[in-house]
Amino acid sequence: MGSRLQGKVAWVTGGGSGLGEATCIRFAEEGAHVIVTDINADAAKSVAEHIVQTGHSAEHHYQDVTDETAWEALRVKMLEAHGKLDVLVNNAGIVERGNVEEADLTSWRRTQAVNLDAVFLGTQAAVRSMKSTGGSIINISSIEGIVGEPNIAAYNASKGGVRIFTKSAALHCAREGYNIRVNSVHPGFILTPMLENGLAEVSEEEQLAMAKALDEQVPLGGMGEPVDIANGCLFLASAESKYMTGSELVIDGGFTCH
Ligand code: NAP
Repeated sequence: MGSRLQGKVAWVTGGGSGLGEATCIRFAEEGAHVIVTDINADAAKSVAEHIVQTGHSAEHHYQDVTDETAWEALRVKMLEAHGKLDVLVNNAGIVERGNVEEADLTSWRRTQAVNLDAVFLGTQAAVRSMKSTGGSIINISSIEGIVGEPNIAAYNASKGGVRIFTKSAALHCAREGYNIRVNSVHPGFILTPMLENGLAEVSEEEQLAMAKALDEQVPLGGMGEPVDIANGCLFLASAESKYMTGSELVIDGGFTCH
């Protein structure tokens, strides 16, 4: 379709579903070789196979992003195979419901491990691979990293952490002269399996209230599509965003304007 990422090697975690899947496909359409990883190995395989079947380039690997040893092993393997890493999208994430009174420490720690600790591990790994060649690291936060929501306390904390951690990493890389840009992306309500599963957990009454709130509170109305986020990631991955680092790309239909 295009050549905005021609010759680039791009690694997307949680690439087997939702926003990660859409990002893998957009990157491949623009010429990147995509490393699709996911804890759901079958899903990663299916996305990579789809990319190859449509005439583009991809490979797939099982990856649990909370596993530090596995990050280093896969990083080294990918560097040996491709000689460089140009883009990393730290996309894998989970959401578990619970307000500050209900949430338990186990759920809290699981959420931080996948959504925040793993973004640290991934960013650290990518900096090791990119420091001599440059690159773009894209950390998927959320509107929930900007505004509060009473029923997802742990998720709010993790995504807020991603937002400010991204700025720290961006400043470090700029100061060291690595030519590595680090930015965060803040999706609003996007229809993916994560959102569908979340909706399935609440009562019908709550679902209706959420649908009404979406229409009332999202200025552009309703939910976004995964490709809306994938296109934002594509911009941050490409040289078109070469003067951006530490920034927050909000793609939310205007939700956070209020
Ligand atoms: P999704 O459809 O559930 O996809 C997430 C993928 O990550 C799944 O394949 C999931 O596997 C995988 N994953 C979960 N834990 C993992 C781990 N430890 N290691 C590696 N992979 C793991 O979710 P999504 O909606 O595309 O969300 C992608 C990212 O966008 C997340 O960081 C999410 O917080 C963020 N986000 C989403 C929205 C939205 O409205 N959808 C809004 C704001 C931000 P399993 O399915 O097997 O768990």
